[in-house]
Amino acid sequence: MDNHTAKAESPPSERLLWAPWRLEYIRGIKDSDCFICDKRDDRNDDDRNLVLARGQESFLLLNAFPYNSGHVLVAPYRPRWIGDTNFMPVIGDTRVVPEALTDTARRLREAWEKEG
Ligand SMILES: [Zn+2]
Repeated sequence: MDNHTAKAESPPSERLLWAPWRLEYIRGIKDSDCFICDKRDDRNDDDRNLVLARGQESFLLLNAFPYNSGHVLVAPYRPRWIGDTNFMPVIGDTRVVPEALTDTARRLREAWEKEG
């Protein structure tokens, strides 16, 4: 086991992947409802948008907040959902913890002190 994985309490077959950099995305101010639609529609700057290729029904892009290097997203031109939905629990028996424990502790301490 390395610094980025740990056994979950439950279920026993599921692992945890620590990806604290993802909280920047989850909590960040978003310019629009859907970054995939933004990148789909902006066909003038595939380099900045990390778009690798465009097909007839879908396009490929790099995840700007990856689980590992070279994390590629395959996005249909007609997305079915918005937000930070991921398939890690389904396809990898892995839940992603998007925040460092020290940051969670700091936020909880601040909330505790604020409530008195
Ligand atoms: Zn969309």
